[in-house]
Amino acid sequence: MSKPLNILFISSEVEPFAKTGGLADVSSALPQAIKELGHEIRIMMPRYRFISERKFKLHDIIRLKDIPIPIGKNTEVGNVKSSFISNLKEKVQVYFFDNVNYFGRDGIYQSPVGKKDYKDNDERFIFFCRGVLETLKRLGWQPDIIHCNDWQTGLVPAYLKSIYASDPFFKNVKTVFTIHNMAYQGAFPVESFDKSGLPKDHYHQEGSEAYGKFNFLKSALAFSDAITTVSERYAEEICSSDEFGAGLNGFLAQRKKDLRGILNGIDYQAWDPAADDSIYRMYDAKSLEAKVDNKKALANRFKLPYKENTPIIGAISRLVDQKGFDLVLEILDDLLKLDVQFVLLGSGEKGVEKKFEAMQKKHTSQMGVFFGFDNELAHLIEAGSDMFLMPSKYEPCGLNQMYSMRYGTPPIVRATGGLEDTVEDYSGGGKGTGFKFEAYDARELLKAVQRALKVYQQPEEWKKLMRNGMTRDFSWEHSAKKYVNLYKDILKQ
Ligand code: ADP
Repeated sequence: MSKPLNILFISSEVEPFAKTGGLADVSSALPQAIKELGHEIRIMMPRYRFISERKFKLHDIIRLKDIPIPIGKNTEVGNVKSSFISNLKEKVQVYFFDNVNYFGRDGIYQSPVGKKDYKDNDERFIFFCRGVLETLKRLGWQPDIIHCNDWQTGLVPAYLKSIYASDPFFKNVKTVFTIHNMAYQGAFPVESFDKSGLPKDHYHQEGSEAYGKFNFLKSALAFSDAITTVSERYAEEICSSDEFGAGLNGFLAQRKKDLRGILNGIDYQAWDPAADDSIYRMYDAKSLEAKVDNKKALANRFKLPYKENTPIIGAISRLVDQKGFDLVLEILDDLLKLDVQFVLLGSGEKGVEKKFEAMQKKHTSQMGVFFGFDNELAHLIEAGSDMFLMPSKYEPCGLNQMYSMRYGTPPIVRATGGLEDTVEDYSGGGKGTGFKFEAYDARELLKAVQRALKVYQQPEEWKKLMRNGMTRDFSWEHSAKKYVNLYKDILKQ
């Protein structure tokens, strides 16, 4: 092998420490996969209060105490703690940037009560981005690559191309920025720009400004050495339409030659029906009959009558506009006229939760809901359901459809982004891994469910579909190699 690379991977969410969605899963599994390829990779994230010092054996790195970070005219002090992700063959070191004022809170981006974004999210992530660079200098550890993820880390490339541009420590450091979702950009009033300390000449349409705001994501798009996103289809989509590109499609299209779509994998250790402690009974493609016990447990958990020949359709999702649950609500009465049961685990917009709750009260023997975040229940839903529903309006990659295929639970998805790239539509003769519909239309969704039901009624055919999904390769290794190739390519530039 050629010389191992040094990589710092930065993210605002990393499983098992902090998670609101797929970003956390990727930020844990991808570094592990890159480490297994023989590279030195470390992770850095904020230290939120709920990350238990005792459980994760966090320890102070004494020489990294009291790092002053300017925020506008003020100074906030950070310090660094360390731990490891240890559910793998090789440990990955994780640094936590700590400051009680900014991160000593119960939420990641918003308070769990009231669900309003913290008003100082600009300062919190300015602090984190500069903190990353100051920490590296004090550690004396010089990465070849800083791999940034989503807007919370978006200022790092901008800092490296400005304030730190003449710092010899960072002379050879290149940046990769991965877009996990274009819809979340971190756009703040112009006053926030002053707090960042970035030079005034960065605030323009080719730099950190977009639509009159200081935009963290755009800062990364403008100043990183390479850009990736989490599926090939989404890479196309975000350059070509305003809807997918959330207003930055034109700007992204200009950087198209530096943009690659690299599909997410899934963590094969965390999501393995043959070795999953969270489910009722483990199984694999050769012991599908054992999956039924999970269905019974799932029905029981949601207080639904267990019906052997009635499929349970499961869904696990953030309940936000992107995920397409307005389509589900539109046809739910009709859906429940079919011979199906429906279970939903989600959290998000209160209005959407209320509507589902009302429907559940109307259809108690056919529908179950749980609002909140529950990883263990998520595993049981993947294992116990017969079908998995993901009707997203857009989907950068999506992980749940891959989990469901791995658990022998064929997904019903809208053909967009990573859903399009990972699910093969059923095409008769035992071919395919799930069911797709094209137009963002509730009737199309209903038709896809009806199509799935027809196949479900042919048990042998259905089993083929289940096994097809279970035996597909969704592991990280392939994608991790693509990231490493990208790192090497930009280091040559
Ligand atoms: P996104 O990142 O847009 O939320 P993904 O499908 O990429 O969507 O990833 C979602 C991840 O979050 C999956 O691991 C999924 O199981 C998990 N998840 C989402 N909502 C919940 C919830 N309410 N409880 C437990 N896990 C959840």
